[in-house]
Amino acid sequence: MYEFAVTPAVTQVRRRGVEISAVDPESLGAELELESGDRIIRVNGHVVRDYLDFRFHTAGETDLVIDVRKSSGEDWELNVERDEGEEFGLNFDQIVPRQCANECLFCFCKGNPETARPSLFVRDEDVRLSFLYGNYTTLTSITDDEMRRVIEQRLTPQYVSVHATDLDVRAYLLGIDKERADISGKMRCMLDAGIEIHAQVVLCPKINDDEILEKTIHDLAELYPGVSSVAIVPLGLTRYLNDPRLTPVTPDFCRRTIEQVTKIQSDLRARLGTNFAFLGDEIYLRAGVVVPGRKHYGDLPQIEDGVGMVRSFASDFEALIRRLERRPPSNAEALFGTILTGTLFTQTLTTMINRLNSRFRTRLHVAAVQNEYFGGDVSVAGLLTGGDFLAARSDVRGEFAIIPRVVLKSDEPVMLDGLRFEELQREFDLPLYAYDFPSFAAAIESGSAHKLAVKDEAA
Ligand code: SF4
Repeated sequence: MYEFAVTPAVTQVRRRGVEISAVDPESLGAELELESGDRIIRVNGHVVRDYLDFRFHTAGETDLVIDVRKSSGEDWELNVERDEGEEFGLNFDQIVPRQCANECLFCFCKGNPETARPSLFVRDEDVRLSFLYGNYTTLTSITDDEMRRVIEQRLTPQYVSVHATDLDVRAYLLGIDKERADISGKMRCMLDAGIEIHAQVVLCPKINDDEILEKTIHDLAELYPGVSSVAIVPLGLTRYLNDPRLTPVTPDFCRRTIEQVTKIQSDLRARLGTNFAFLGDEIYLRAGVVVPGRKHYGDLPQIEDGVGMVRSFASDFEALIRRLERRPPSNAEALFGTILTGTLFTQTLTTMINRLNSRFRTRLHVAAVQNEYFGGDVSVAGLLTGGDFLAARSDVRGEFAIIPRVVLKSDEPVMLDGLRFEELQREFDLPLYAYDFPSFAAAIESGSAHKLAVKDEAA
């Protein structure tokens, strides 16, 4: 059923070197007559497996010998002299992620509809992507070679899904044996080499909560500052992920967890000077509890995991209000439209938008979009799909609609169900924009949602 479920934990076999996908004109790469499709094989005699290797072996070097396999099949040896800090102007192929060999009870791949696009079934477990994008790995199958690379190339920080330090519980959650579940030696090895680790716990009621959670936080706190933070995020169930061993997260469970972790945080703050263990925003929102203040999150170490995102949004919103007070939008009443978001964030956003409307006479409306695609208890904005927005069209009021930018792939305007943004735009009978907070704020300040979108398109 899941196309990568039995993929062995080995790096995929690939052609030698790393392929260049684009060369900036006027760059050193262009001067060297490098072209898209060429492959960098070696730098100063070192084998290049991907662009991290290229970056590592070229860093700080001004005299280089680069072996290239041209797309025509010719082999070139380039002797390069460059100025200190001069960029090559090369873009490379995406890293092909290494696959995990776990069978986690709560694996997000099991929560996808079978028709989801293939990339949603990729069970990536790759220390390179952890370093580059903050993807979590379990470290259960990291090879000696990968460990050496993390240390040698300083791929720090690393993001590690620990889930539980109790080995029986960790092995159960990951669907593997205890020997593989034990990553204490691997974490030690990274920490001794100065690699920083941010840990994650996916909190599953009746499995790794209560005293197991307490032990996990305290065990990891023993490794502070090497392990510098722990994100605790709730299990998410979709209509396809309905394993009877999993218990849904309820508002009451969230309230108890907040109470428990708040006490632990106070102890850790006194000892370490940081809260260290941070609850995901979703836990506060589901509990109906106001998220902590901005100071609680320190330098927001795991914001991409939904930890402190709501507080950060609220702070940005406050800053927007202050700017508007100094310089009100000239044509505020023309800002008559609807912001579509996930049900989890609707109440919080509505309160903010109502304030904006009453202070500056904008006419913005917030509409909650149900996640029918995944179903279950999925309610965050980032997992809404094109079909979900289409189903919410009748809730749109005004002259335009805004969806969160985060629902689109970072490198392509396509949503999780495969619908492209321009297709969705065609289905709406008014202008539809995909905005992150800075774009939204700029639209409000300019007094025109449309003007900004046109500018964005032109850029
Ligand atoms: S949750 Fe992550 S580590 Fe676990 S099986 Fe899925 S992809 Fe692998």
